[in-house]
Amino acid sequence: MRKKLFIPGPTEVAPDVLQKMATPMIGHRSKDASNLQREITEKLRKVMYTQNPILLSTTSGSGLMEGSIRSLTAKRAVVFSVGAFGDRWFKMAEANGVPADKHSAELGKPTTPEVVDQYLSTGKYDVFTITHNETSTGIMHDLQPFAELKKKYPDVYWLVDTVSSLSGVKIDVDALGIDVCITSTQKALALPPGMSIASVTMRSLEHAKTVKNRGLYLDLVDLYSYIEKKDHQYPSTPSLSHMFALNYQLDRILAEGLDNRYKRHFEMAEYTRAWAKKYFALFPVEKFSSQTLTTITNTRNISVGDLNSALGKVGLQISNGYGDLKEKTFRIAHMGELTMSDIQEVTSAIEKILQLK
Ligand SMILES: *Cc1c(COP(=O)(O)O)cnc(C)c1O
Repeated sequence: MRKKLFIPGPTEVAPDVLQKMATPMIGHRSKDASNLQREITEKLRKVMYTQNPILLSTTSGSGLMEGSIRSLTAKRAVVFSVGAFGDRWFKMAEANGVPADKHSAELGKPTTPEVVDQYLSTGKYDVFTITHNETSTGIMHDLQPFAELKKKYPDVYWLVDTVSSLSGVKIDVDALGIDVCITSTQKALALPPGMSIASVTMRSLEHAKTVKNRGLYLDLVDLYSYIEKKDHQYPSTPSLSHMFALNYQLDRILAEGLDNRYKRHFEMAEYTRAWAKKYFALFPVEKFSSQTLTTITNTRNISVGDLNSALGKVGLQISNGYGDLKEKTFRIAHMGELTMSDIQEVTSAIEKILQLK
């Protein structure tokens, strides 16, 4: 049986969007390919509230996370981790020989601007990274305090992972002054996995030119050079299928209206949080709980694996905890195409299976 996905990626894809993946191929050096990239750029600029260049990479979200930390770190990067995806960014730095330090918050707690200030005030760093929405712990940051802080450090570049939040909550890239804002197709944007997306400031691209050994496939400077000099094309063959679907899905998103989309996500999050508090407990501190997924503490000591098997029999799937949080927590995603009635369907199915009262 096909299962409706309440996992934090891949998420449900609308049938007509899925159909667009089957669009017949065009040459990737054709005018049509340039136009496709240009249209996607214009629409993504609206969704990201930015005038910056938009880069697409045929990789999952991790691709441009790795590419950006490697391309932009000339001195040293500091990664502020609040869970598994922050840790991954640090591992990427290490694996690429990029000098980096990591600061980890206690699981379920956010990164604070005070801690970031402590690190940046040493003058050792030219890059810092923030996970906007940590998909393991369900922490979502307010980016405004970091934006304020960053004004004190004009020579530092700010990289933000919005992989599991962009388009589910407003990320005002230019107003916040985010240098590289990264997302991918299979979370709140509700497309199949396979493309990484980033907005990049011109000043970061200039800075990146001073960095040695940026690699090639994920080098932001090389990716941008083809947009600029080759009329919105790519150094290598992009997943045109994703581009057709993305272009179409962005129309759907803009037709829904961004504010309506954020409101839908907010309402689903409020509902799921209230449900979680009634029957279990929230894992992240409530003030920083995510608008696109809820991480729930398994206070009843249920078998999450068994629950998910039972849900599978009625065509639903949630997510176990991530890594060390497996069985200790479970996660219900409420992003992308999902609506309030979907969330009510999955929560009442859980109530029935566990006989919750
Ligand atoms: C899913 C996710 C990633 C990694 O994305 P992939 O597309 O699987 O490479 C990175 N950061 C966050 C917060 C995520 O949720």
